[in-house]
Amino acid sequence: METTLIFLKPDAVQRGLIGSIVGRFEAKGLTFVGMKLMNVPKDLAEKHYAEHQGKPFYDGLIAFVTSSPVFVMAIRGVNAVAVCRTLIGATNGQKADPGTIRGDFGMSGGYNMIHGSDSLESAERELALWFDDGELATIDKTLDQWVYDPS
Ligand code: UDP
Repeated sequence: METTLIFLKPDAVQRGLIGSIVGRFEAKGLTFVGMKLMNVPKDLAEKHYAEHQGKPFYDGLIAFVTSSPVFVMAIRGVNAVAVCRTLIGATNGQKADPGTIRGDFGMSGGYNMIHGSDSLESAERELALWFDDGELATIDKTLDQWVYDPS
């Protein structure tokens, strides 16, 4: 089992897409262990996107994610990091495959609705940034034995 950090950016929240997007993760069989709507302090945005500091889009990205609330989720499941990235799709909505969140709901490269951790290491770092110790729920879903059955 892995836990990954997903957040819906201000464009998704303002466009009223929370339900449509969250429903995709839920329907896939993944498990929510954390969820919250929040305004993003600038220092959190800067820590989260530290790897992009100095890039041409960095200042605009920080301004964007701190401009209006985001909807943050911790999502748990077998291979959850890669599965969520597949559901999200390529960075630019014009290139993202149909059927993915970015491919179905957007056309932009910067205002692309959603963030998902890109590796297990990133997920661990990002979960610690966005959620306090003890904030995530523990849940035992008996149905998981069917959801993840490999046969
Ligand atoms: N971004 C941008 N312009 C670019 C590349 C990235 O505005 O040329 C923004 C976009 O919102 C993206 C975020 O920076 O989601 C982080 O970039 P990354 O390459 O990590 O893409 P992601 O993992 O979100 O697909």
